[in-house]
Amino acid sequence: MNFELNETQSLIRDTARKFAREVVAPQARKLDREALFPKDVYPKLGELGLLGVNIPEPYGGAQAGVVSYALAMIEISAACASTAVGMAVTNMAAELINAYGTEAQKKKHVTALATGQACVGAFALSEAHAGSDAGALRTRAEKKGDRWVLNGSKQWITSGAHAGVIVVWARTSDAGNKGLSCFIVEGGTPGLIVGKAEDKMGLKGSNTVPLTFENLELPLENLLAREGDGFKLAMVALDGGRIGISAQACGVGRAALEASVRYSKERKAFGQAIGGFQALRFMMADMHTRLQAAELLCLRAATLKEKGLPFTREASMAKLFCSETSNWVCDRAVQIHGGYGYIDEFPVERYLRDARVQTIYEGTSEIQRLVIAREIFKTVST
Ligand SMILES: Cc1cc2nc3c(=O)[nH]c(=O)nc-3n(C[C@H](O)[C@H](O)[C@H](O)COP(=O)(O)OP(=O)(O)OC[C@H]3O[C@@H](n4cnc5c(N)ncnc54)[C@H](O)[C@@H]3O)c2cc1C
Repeated sequence: MNFELNETQSLIRDTARKFAREVVAPQARKLDREALFPKDVYPKLGELGLLGVNIPEPYGGAQAGVVSYALAMIEISAACASTAVGMAVTNMAAELINAYGTEAQKKKHVTALATGQACVGAFALSEAHAGSDAGALRTRAEKKGDRWVLNGSKQWITSGAHAGVIVVWARTSDAGNKGLSCFIVEGGTPGLIVGKAEDKMGLKGSNTVPLTFENLELPLENLLAREGDGFKLAMVALDGGRIGISAQACGVGRAALEASVRYSKERKAFGQAIGGFQALRFMMADMHTRLQAAELLCLRAATLKEKGLPFTREASMAKLFCSETSNWVCDRAVQIHGGYGYIDEFPVERYLRDARVQTIYEGTSEIQRLVIAREIFKTVST
């Protein structure tokens, strides 16, 4: 077992940390308060290789592996969770097309995503009535001559209004999960209608929109993998995506802990810095310990994926524990800040609002427990 980072991993982490501190963090509060999408930041992340960390160099990626990706996500998330979620979905879309796309699809779409030419990517699976139960989706794709024609609506699509490349799931037959297929849709395609952005509790700098397809026509070559492979592709993409959200949770949690330590050194009560009170020191010791455990679970899942080993259970355990930990840590951080934790003069209330969705998107905590239980029941014999 090796807990040391290699040279590439250290380089990616340091690059992401520097960019996070110099560019991303200074604008995080403004993005949150004004619900601004950080459109100008993504091409810069692309230049640094952070939109395709695990994508081969010939397609514009950094070819630095999954652990490097998780490390970079932690750094960007510690600065701004909204910016980070756009980065996560772009990496996710790029990886999916890289894994299942034809050479032509990879050259065109993976390169556009990894370099930031597409601004960001989006992942359009959920529908108004089909979130956890993704297999219940109703968007349809019909083959008509040399075209696919898409009709239906998606809900909650991160970066949907700004994405140059969107992977979209649609039903191509009524054969249950085997009737789902996956398509590549470019932003601005006629028939793609972007709805009103959601006014969210947190992640306000991230754009979350419904997308409607009205007789949206695609060339046949925009089918990703084979007809009927869609459900499998969604599950594979979500396994990887859960590592990204685990890393996001670790980053936000770390920021909340660091803010708490700093504040507790400054703030005085009863004639001393509150950081001297054992009650708060123990709280911060627990926050740190849980965050370290979370990061280990996240990096273990990343390591397994990088080695090409099964990682479904580990990704779900990481997503479950990291997201629940991040929420607990951010809640503690508000407590340590007292009344000041509840107003936006200090960043911890934003961290708490941003963390809240981590136990919901890319599979709720309940869905992670279903996956983990299913995997344990497979491996333990009677
Ligand atoms: C900010 C934000 C961004 C998002 N971005 C995207 C995106 O980019 N692309 C995309 O496709 N989707 C996206 N989503 C959708 C997200 O993945 C879903 O909201 C999530 O999967 C939950 O689905 P749901 O909202 O339909 O809840 P439901 O599935 O209706 O769940 C409601 C409750 O029931 C529980 N539940 C459901 N089924 C079970 C079960 N079998 N056993 C036990 N409990 C169960 C859930 O855990 C939850 O507590 C986003 C959501 C948000 C809020």
